[in-house]
Amino acid sequence: MDSMRELYQELILDHGRHPRNAGVMDAPSCQKDGYNPLCGDKITLYLALEAGNIVDIKFDANGCAISVASASLMSEALKGKTLAEAHELFALFHAAVIDGADNNEALGKLAVLAGVKTYPARVKCATLAWHTLIAAVDNSDKEVTTE
Ligand code: ZN
Repeated sequence: MDSMRELYQELILDHGRHPRNAGVMDAPSCQKDGYNPLCGDKITLYLALEAGNIVDIKFDANGCAISVASASLMSEALKGKTLAEAHELFALFHAAVIDGADNNEALGKLAVLAGVKTYPARVKCATLAWHTLIAAVDNSDKEVTTE
């Protein structure tokens, strides 16, 4: 268990320091800003969509290691997925970090963030990118904050 936790921590630190798919996208299909006032995490998410598929995803994140790592892991998990699959993955991820549901198998690498469920303040860091994603694909005009 301890070695597993160490492995998880390393993955989070790695993605926090070297986020995948970080950057700005020219002419995205949609983009959205998200903000977590509790921690000060900010993200701008860019999506390139084609026929209901996420063909590319980029983000510009400024925040704690958990929030950046979560955005990075999410971007890896979602590339090539359909919007329906993205919603499904969000539901599984949300249930894992909020309710402690054991969805590890379905979540794959995203499961490394399930440990935040014991730190309620960190849950908002871990879910910011996802709330921003859902607002972006739903074309929501609402401001995304975790409060
Ligand atoms: Zn944070």
